[in-house]
Amino acid sequence: GRKFFVGGNWKCNGTTEEVKKIVNVLNEGQVPSQDVIEVVISPPFVFLPVVKDLLWPDFHVRTQNCWVKKGGAFTGEVSAEMLLNLGIPWVILGHSERRFILNESNEFVGDKVKYALSQGLKVITCVGETLEQREAGSTMDVVASQTKAIAERVSDWSNIVLAYEPVWAIGNGKVATPAQAQEVHSELRKWLHANTSPEVVIYGGSVNGANCKELAAQPDVDGFLVGGASLKLEFIDIIKSAE
Ligand code: 13P
Repeated sequence: GRKFFVGGNWKCNGTTEEVKKIVNVLNEGQVPSQDVIEVVISPPFVFLPVVKDLLWPDFHVRTQNCWVKKGGAFTGEVSAEMLLNLGIPWVILGHSERRFILNESNEFVGDKVKYALSQGLKVITCVGETLEQREAGSTMDVVASQTKAIAERVSDWSNIVLAYEPVWAIGNGKVATPAQAQEVHSELRKWLHANTSPEVVIYGGSVNGANCKELAAQPDVDGFLVGGASLKLEFIDIIKSAE
């Protein structure tokens, strides 16, 4: 079956001291073996060296973004080649905070995913609707068009993990109900089966130690992408919800 997958997205948070503390929590957490679960942590770029030095190799390290093509005269950007040079195998692309706050279009995200995969990175890519779009009944149209922009550019999805992150559930404690998550995940999986070759569909948006078990029990929820709670001790409980 599909291996349970948990990503910790630290977003734009942390100091060197805080990062060392979180790494300690992870190293001491006695998480299940890699046969059962894949755990991938995304610190901000500047903390990559310290996290890579200190974190047990059982955890994978990934970044939260990278540039859309080969590096060069692109001030402030970090290229896929640089990540590979540092031994970073994974990147998150198309997080809603980049889509909606930094105006990254579906096409731009699709181009980023295509380039990163072509360089040998594995990609977590996020889709999800706003509250307004959900209330207008267009959830599936929105997530399908976000997914389609990638499917039009990429035929082999074996190195992609798709994260469903409803924008209205991110960072505010308003987690999707297990039934809401299951409904979209199952539709997404159907869409993927019809249009490409899906493997892993994970949920993100206010996942915490208290709600993770019930969400993880849904047949089409293959794991989580965790923001706020990935900076806390309860991230260990979320990882263990795989069991
Ligand atoms: P929260 O877990 O803080 O809601 O963030 C979810 C998220 O955006 C993970 O990428």
